[in-house]
Amino acid sequence: MSYGENGGAVGYLIGEENQGMRYMFTMMNNARLSVGLEGLSLAERSYQDAFTYATERNQGRAPGAPAGEQSLIIEHPDVRRMLLTMRSLTEAMRNIVYVTAEGIDLSRHHPDPEVRAAQTEFVDLLIPVAKGWCTDMGVEVTSLAIQVYGGMGFIEESGVPQHYRDARITTIYEGTNGIQAMDLVGRKLGLRGGAAVTELLATMAAVDADLAAGGDDLAGIRSALSDALGTLGSTTELDHDQRHGRPP
Ligand SMILES: Cc1cc2nc3c(=O)[nH]c(=O)nc-3n(C[C@H](O)[C@H](O)[C@H](O)COP(=O)(O)OP(=O)(O)OC[C@H]3O[C@@H](n4cnc5c(N)ncnc54)[C@H](O)[C@@H]3O)c2cc1C
Repeated sequence: MSYGENGGAVGYLIGEENQGMRYMFTMMNNARLSVGLEGLSLAERSYQDAFTYATERNQGRAPGAPAGEQSLIIEHPDVRRMLLTMRSLTEAMRNIVYVTAEGIDLSRHHPDPEVRAAQTEFVDLLIPVAKGWCTDMGVEVTSLAIQVYGGMGFIEESGVPQHYRDARITTIYEGTNGIQAMDLVGRKLGLRGGAAVTELLATMAAVDADLAAGGDDLAGIRSALSDALGTLGSTTELDHDQRHGRPP
């Protein structure tokens, strides 16, 4: 590397000495959230394209359609399954990105220092999830868009291969998703001896009371939430070393 000619460039110390790594993480957090948002954006765009295509393309006969008539592909259960998967994943991604961004604002501007500290911890925990999960799902959703288009999805002029290609880099830059996973497990799950993640799980579990008020219609969602929380609880439980601040 060459830093300037004729004697080199002048370097200026920004902030305090030996705090560079900590400052770098401020920039990295913004970059990681932005890349998570990129995964969401590509997923949303590809969902809109796939939905529109599915309401214009006729192919085959859907269950219950009159004999001799072609159906729009959106009438086929498998196409609906793909579109609903794309939509539900995209909405979950959007919520993760929003609560993380809200947490950043609260961590900086809330008048109560305890809330600021709690929100800083929440953001630290969520950042590798926002980056890693939203970009993995960006690849999944843009791939599903290609599938909804069928053969046309493989053709450049349909536009959907571009979304898939653009999504594919998001799992690699600003720290590969393997590195995000290591950050989550090695540094973030151990925050406050595991209390940060335990409290987050309790907040999520409290949603069950609202769902219960919704009656039987929401029973399926309650049971899925309960299963997911059970899995999350057992996979985020710390071993002895982690509880005492040593990475796995
Ligand atoms: C299109 C594009 C744009 C980019 N833009 C920029 C930019 O603007 N600025 C910039 O600074 N960089 C940029 N990069 C670089 C990018 O951040 C790196 O490519 C990325 O961080 C991965 O590093 P690497 O390529 O050295 O892969 P490697 O670090 O060699 O990783 C290869 C594999 O090994 C795994 N791995 C690596 N270390 C570990 C470990 N300790 N434990 C477990 N697994 C591990 C990785 O997860 C990955 O699966 C860009 C890259 C691309 C492709």
